[in-house]
This record gives sequence, C-alpha cells and structure tokens, in this order.
Amino acid sequence: MTNLMDRFELDRRKLLMERSVPGRIGVSLPPLDVPVAPMPDDSLLRHDLEMPEISESELVRYFAQISQFNFSIDHNFYPLGSCTMKYNPKVNDEFASLPGLAQIHPLQPESTIQGALKLLWRLQALLSGITGLPGVSLAPMAGADGELAGMLMIRAYHLDRGDDQRKSVLIPDSAHGTNPASAAMAGFDVVTLPSDSSGNTDLEALKAAADDNLAGLMITLPSTLGLFDTNILEVTRIVREAGGLVYGDGANLNAILGRVKLGSLGFDVVHSNLHKTFSTPHGGGGPGSGPVVAAERLAEYLPAPIAARIDDGDGHVRYGFDTPPKTVGKLGAFHGNFGSLARAYAYILAMGKEGVHQTSEDAVINANYILSQLRDDYDLPYDRGCMHEVVLSARTLKRRHGVSALDVCKRLIDYGIHPPTMYFPLIIEEALMIEPTETESKETLDHFIAVMKAIATEAKDEPELLHDAPHNTPNTRLDEARAARRPELRWRRASSS
Ligand SMILES: *Cc1c(COP(=O)(O)O)cnc(C)c1O
Repeated sequence: MTNLMDRFELDRRKLLMERSVPGRIGVSLPPLDVPVAPMPDDSLLRHDLEMPEISESELVRYFAQISQFNFSIDHNFYPLGSCTMKYNPKVNDEFASLPGLAQIHPLQPESTIQGALKLLWRLQALLSGITGLPGVSLAPMAGADGELAGMLMIRAYHLDRGDDQRKSVLIPDSAHGTNPASAAMAGFDVVTLPSDSSGNTDLEALKAAADDNLAGLMITLPSTLGLFDTNILEVTRIVREAGGLVYGDGANLNAILGRVKLGSLGFDVVHSNLHKTFSTPHGGGGPGSGPVVAAERLAEYLPAPIAARIDDGDGHVRYGFDTPPKTVGKLGAFHGNFGSLARAYAYILAMGKEGVHQTSEDAVINANYILSQLRDDYDLPYDRGCMHEVVLSARTLKRRHGVSALDVCKRLIDYGIHPPTMYFPLIIEEALMIEPTETESKETLDHFIAVMKAIATEAKDEPELLHDAPHNTPNTRLDEARAARRPELRWRRASSS
C-alpha cells in the first residue's frame, strides 16, 4: 500500500519528458488536403531535439498537476510586503476584457475608440483627485518606469532654468531600491540620507545636504519600514527652500488612500503602482502601470501622450491625445498598459469615495493588528504604529537559536502560507516585512498569527526542523543562489554513465 502511495507521489513529480512513451500521441490530424511538400534539407532538421510523446489526457493532467505546485493569492494568504497584491476583484478583469476595450488597436483611428480615450481621460482626473496634483500621464508601464519619468522631469525643469549644477538627489535609506536606481539612470548623483532612531528621515542630515547642488529628494511614503514619516511637512519644506523638487514614491497608496493627498504635503511629482493598489494582478514581470502625477510647475514636462478632451466648438467634444509642450518624451510605443488602466478605472469607480477611504483604514488596521499580536515573539525594530505593512525582525531568534528569517519563511510554506518579503528593507537585520492587505478577514489574520507564534516556539524547541523546511512541498529547501546563477531551464536526458 505504502509503496503504491509513494509511487503516486513520484509519478506526480515526473517531468513531461519523463512521462513520454515512444509512439504515444495526443492529437489526431485530419486527412491531408494539400499537396505533399518535401521535407526541408536534412541539414536544417534537428534530430537531437527530443519531443515528448504523450496522450492528450496525460498532458492535461501534467499541466493541472504542476499548476497545483504553484501558490497564488487565490490559494491562500499571501502577506508579501511592499509588492503585495492588494484587492484584485475578478469583475475588473471581466470589465477590462470587454471587446470594446480588449480588442481595439492603438493604431485605430481615434474616432473609433472614443470610449477608450474617454476612460483614459477620466482616469487621469481620478488620479489627480486622489493625489491632489493636476498633471497626469498614464504612459509609464511600471513603478520604476514612472520613477524614471519623474526624475527626467525634474532634470528637465532644472536645466530649463539654467540650474545645471543641481545634480544631487537625496534618498532616505528607507526608500524602495528602485528609487536610487531611477535617479542614477536619469543622470543624478545619489546621496543617501540616514533614518533617525524612530524611522523618520533624519532632519539634521537633510539640512546639511540641502545645498545649491540639490536637484531634489526622492522619498517612499510610507517608507519601506511601513512607517509614515511624521516629519514629512518639514522634509518637503527644507527641500523646497533649498530650490529642490520633491519626488514621492506612492507605489503603495493603499496606506493613505482617501486620507491624505500627497500634493498638499508639498510633493511635486509622484507615481503610483496601479498593479499594486488599483486592482491589476501582477507577478512574473507584468503587466504593470505606474502613472506619474505632477504639480503645475512640472506638468509641461510629463511623458507623452496625455489623453485630452478636445472642444471642437459648436458643442462638439471629442477625445484625443496631447503632447505636453516640454515633454521628456515617450516611454513606449503607445499609451501605457491599457488593460491595467481599464481595471484601475473600474476599481476606483466601484469603490467610490467611501470605499477607498475604507481601503486604507482596513489595510492599516490589519497591519497594526499583526504588529500588536507578534511583537513579543519577534523583534519590532521601531516601536510605533505602522501603516499598511509591518516590518518585524528575526534577530533574536537568530542570535539565540540560530534560526534566520529565511528559516521562518521556509517553515511558513509548510503551513500553507506564502512567506512575507524577507531581508528587505536592507537597514533591518533579519527583516520580515509583512503586508496583510485590506482584504483579509480577522480569522485569516488570527491563523497567520497563530502560525507565526508556533514557528517562534519551534525555533526554540527544535531549530533543526526549521533549518530544513519546507518539508511538505514537492521540492524541499533549494539552493537558491545556484538556481539563480546556474539555472537549468531545459530538460536534458540524464547521461547514461
Ligand atoms: C513595487 C515598488 C516599486 C517598483 O515598482 P515596479 O512596478 O516593480 O517597477 C517602487 N517603489 C515601491 C515602494 C514599491 O513597492
């Protein structure tokens, strides 16, 4: 019996080529109704290319089985900090798939896509309302793409005024890793600002660095510590007084939606990730959307194109595209990832004003609930309330029991929960960055908390168990460094030796 069960497990893990049986076939072709053509020259044929020979039902089973080895937010709790999938209602996928939205072509005459253009124009207005900044471009196709656009705008602004010595961009050490990369790509010198003992931007360091060479500050708000910088008004004032511009990374707007408008805090340019906060499921590299939103003085530099409402006179209104007078240019061939934009539009309208208000309330309460329940089992680097995510640390578990953040994360997989982001932000030792999101029920959070407590106890009582975790998955602990550096992406027949 047991042998047969083991056999089933082994079969389930077989790769496609290992399931191949010579001569087995999964399709039947209709009789030939065209003249027989000769095969290409033999030198063009690859005889070493092995193809699986497998029946149709076995092929279907193979893909269904490997899909179950996968993990997604549709399977269970997925508290990955910073880049979490927040609320992605399925109905928005359906909306974005409507033929009038999904089956149009960017080169179609504008007169035939008026509805889609109107959607873009209205979405711009909604994002402007949410951020309190007047200029919006939907062109960027990722958060980092929006950052690059915003930094190029800041550069163009200073150059336009003959301020070409303004080359330095200050970035707090609690910023997202893309921030310094984007500033450097836009040609700036990046200067890192330390965080103070409460996790805010260090004001003394900021004052010292805010000189005539200052181009601007790039700040992630809330920071990757999951904290709202309570000195933010002072921060933006210092930068502006020194002649710099303020860039806000608003990738995770679900923390402050409907609560605070970044424009009223002194920000000049902001991006937001529609594929985090506004309903596009993401992962595996796309699709994404990182619209960039700007204050009056930067709006003329926005990337093109911008959806526009054009009044033709005598009561005729149509929608088209505009190019801002001093645009930093185009970021792609067309106008962004339209499907993500359509989803964001549907999401914002469906949620409404009260809905987005509730989003931030629930996101912040859920994260603080986890903070309050786990603070005795894990280290809490900054003892204060958090925003949409909480950064804990496994520092003490590591020192006392040799159990690392990685071990804790791997053990979570055994309990059927996706690990949080770990070892990020870099300024926290053994970081565990947990974002429950606004959608999880109290029962789910309580279950997660109970599991995290159980793992902390296991770490003390049987640390070995954690070192080799996960134990219940098709693959156990992987050599991740080797998998990344020497990936084996292709099946090869095991050599006969
Ligand atoms: C995800 C994220 C980014 C980068 O967004 P991409 O779409 O992955 O380029 C930037 N900043 C913060 C705070 C993020 O969470």
